[in-house]
Amino acid sequence: MNIDQFAFPPGSNKRLRSYDTASTGSYRKKEEALEKLAEDVSEIARMQDVLFAQDVYALLLIFQAMDAAGKDSAIKHVMSGVNPQGCDVHSFKAPSAEELDHDYLWRCMRALPERGRIGIFNRSYYEEVLVVRVHPEFLTRQKLPPQPTGKAFWKARYEEINHFERYLVRNGIVVMKFFLHVSKEEQRKRFLARIDEEDKNWKFSAADAKEREHWKDYMRAYEETFRHTSTSWAPWYIVPADHKWYSRIVVSEVIVKTLRALKMTYPTPTGAHQKELRAIRKRLMEES
Ligand code: ATP
Ligand code: MG
Repeated sequence: MNIDQFAFPPGSNKRLRSYDTASTGSYRKKEEALEKLAEDVSEIARMQDVLFAQDVYALLLIFQAMDAAGKDSAIKHVMSGVNPQGCDVHSFKAPSAEELDHDYLWRCMRALPERGRIGIFNRSYYEEVLVVRVHPEFLTRQKLPPQPTGKAFWKARYEEINHFERYLVRNGIVVMKFFLHVSKEEQRKRFLARIDEEDKNWKFSAADAKEREHWKDYMRAYEETFRHTSTSWAPWYIVPADHKWYSRIVVSEVIVKTLRALKMTYPTPTGAHQKELRAIRKRLMEES
């Protein structure tokens, strides 16, 4: 699978609607894809082990999407093989009073993965240019110094985010951003299922239905976000999400290919360490 087809080209004015939400690539059905997903999942697990041993890079995976696009289940499936000790998931909801008393990147900075680990952000600082842009009244809660909040304000936020991500990447934190791109019609079906199937009721709230009414504004905010913040150092991947099984493969393929490109290796022991190991080995052998 060529993952470049999903990357939003840096600096382009591409329309979001030119991406097909229902694509399944070269796969015709789920069963064909499951094998590939299993392969990728074990490859991610293997490389996470090297990531941890090498202790140079960290991986930051950012997931953004409209409700019911499948963020949770993508995270669950793609990371299913990874050693739980090497991985953290953080979900970012509407900010608390304490969080609002800080700059908007603060809560995400505290949750960044340390070297050797995979950090997953289920929503992120991107909410600051998405939900907050769609609902500018949220800005007033942020207690910012008085300033105009027109186009230039949002441009400044994109710029801040780009600089922040550049800083992370230069420090060894590899940033990958996924937008699970679901159609409005598919969301409608999934919402109906959440209402009709009792075991799914807990997943649905009136607030979700309310946000759906702002669909167009969200799409505009997303599009603008991708245009300004898909960069060569931290690209956005637009993942077709009408078929959950396909979106999982796309995400896992992007992770596998990106990890491979790091060409990580287990650390080679120094001469002194090798000598020490040989001595211990000899003693252990003599014990029996
Ligand atoms: P689920 O799949 O369980 O619905 P979720 O990520 O949608 O997961 P919710 O608790 O339903 O979780 O929603 C979190 C809400 O918090 C979202 O509507 C999101 O837009 C909002 N939110 C996140 N960050 C911010 C922010 N910085 N400012 C305002 N609202 C935010
Ligand atoms: Mg929700």
